[in-house]
Amino acid sequence: KDVILEVKNLKKHFHMGRNQVVQAVDGVTFDVYRGETLGLVGESGCGKSTIGRTLIRLYDATEGTVKFNDQDVYSLKGKELKNFNRKMQMIFQDPYASLNPRMTVMDIIAEGIDIHGLAKGEERRRRVVELLQTVGLNEEHADRFAHEFSGGQRQRIGIARALAVEPDFIIADEPISALDVSIQAQVVNLMRKLQREKGLTYLFIAHDLSMVKYISDRVGVMYLGNLVELAESDELYDHPLHPYTEALLSAVPIPDPETAKTRERIILEGDVPSPINPPSGCRFRTRCPKVMDICSEVVPTWQEARPGHWVACHLYNEKE
Ligand code: SF4
Ligand code: MG
Repeated sequence: KDVILEVKNLKKHFHMGRNQVVQAVDGVTFDVYRGETLGLVGESGCGKSTIGRTLIRLYDATEGTVKFNDQDVYSLKGKELKNFNRKMQMIFQDPYASLNPRMTVMDIIAEGIDIHGLAKGEERRRRVVELLQTVGLNEEHADRFAHEFSGGQRQRIGIARALAVEPDFIIADEPISALDVSIQAQVVNLMRKLQREKGLTYLFIAHDLSMVKYISDRVGVMYLGNLVELAESDELYDHPLHPYTEALLSAVPIPDPETAKTRERIILEGDVPSPINPPSGCRFRTRCPKVMDICSEVVPTWQEARPGHWVACHLYNEKE
């Protein structure tokens, strides 16, 4: 498979007052294949947004390596950095906060075109109009201001802005969470259509497992700064291995009543611990229904338990 993004042991720690360290992302390893959608799910605060922001260099990594098209992302400089800034784009969760309300849609979408010197004058306008049409808007919208639009329309503008610089890879950080349910499917379907037409690769961050299954080829599950499981979508949903994934999936409604009968709802005890003092060993052990003695002492290794199916849990460690 053609790997476009390779993430190895990525860590992002934030230093707070009084020597406190928030281990927001703590040793995450995965590949993203060219042209796929990799979904990343987990409860709020599990580090999924931090991963997105660290990959695109909004944050510096604390440790680990990230390669984009075989190039080490954190050592890029000059022209190569500028090219990276173009090829990897981000769509944000809140289309209200991420677009400047006092800029026209034309100027918002053309910002990247200007920065990268891709077009000027008539050609610049022509490109923006074409982008507006691509996302289901039109020329009339170009000279209006962002605040005049609904949430769904703003997210379309955000997508057009990302597309303006012809990216290969888009990190979508909960792009539909802030939208009305009736609008969510429209935006997701637009993203799928654009992916097919332009050969885009997506990292799709979300907390809603059912939406992630719908859009993703593969899904990764995060808990408290760790990736705990990663597999093809159907494999993950049909054969979850990690107890946390099992619990998350047990809360997703199943349309088929026969399958639904066999899946019991698992209610997790307690709250997610703080990423400042995470539990020793397996970070999920304070809430895990299958916890064993070893779980508090040894950090489970990230391993391929079934073909293409990765998990970090002592239940699947063969050597022990
Ligand atoms: Fe549960 Fe232990 Fe597996 Fe962690 S390593 S998920 S505590 S069984
Ligand atoms: Mg978030």
